[in-house]
Amino acid sequence: MMVLVGVKDSNIKNGELLDSKCPECESINSLKFSIYKRYTHITTIPLFPVGKYVNIECSNCKEFFDYPDLNENGQLQLKNEKLKNPIWMYSGSIILFLSICFYVNNYIDLKNESAVLIKTPTKGDIYHLRFSNGYYSSMKIDKVTNDSIYTTQNDFEVYLPYEIKDIDKPENYSKIKNNYSKIEIAKRYKEGKIIEISRK
Ligand SMILES: [Zn+2]
Repeated sequence: MMVLVGVKDSNIKNGELLDSKCPECESINSLKFSIYKRYTHITTIPLFPVGKYVNIECSNCKEFFDYPDLNENGQLQLKNEKLKNPIWMYSGSIILFLSICFYVNNYIDLKNESAVLIKTPTKGDIYHLRFSNGYYSSMKIDKVTNDSIYTTQNDFEVYLPYEIKDIDKPENYSKIKNNYSKIEIAKRYKEGKIIEISRK
């Protein structure tokens, strides 16, 4: 997906200036204003507002004016317009914030779960491993005795921890058999060599 960042304008309020006189044709009560909010967006999702501007048009002579063209009374009326930033202009930021919360929460849950599971190794557990060469893999527990764990290592390695799930297939645990003492396994978890445990 191509990510496009930009700004857009949205018309949030329109009205008439009371007791106004057009600076051009001098007709009375003919000035109409439109207030726009400017917001940033990623593709089509608004992130947050970044500013506002006003268009003033005379309905009689069809001239356009800027804020400084108005007399004091007109400027005051515009200043007193209550403008709220529509919540939808923040929807991207809200989504972003909620996603971060979700991932952080998920991450903490997984860590907590692994911390419990490491204490009770069970046949079928999948241990996610980080090797000293920077690669990641996994191993499956085949058998647990009083003091030892027998495993089959995954035939494959991946670059990133979240790719482990892609290689976690029964047929990939075929050749490399190992056994560890439970003490050794606890040590490896503590050292961050075992990063996650999943149990079906
Ligand atoms: Zn006019």
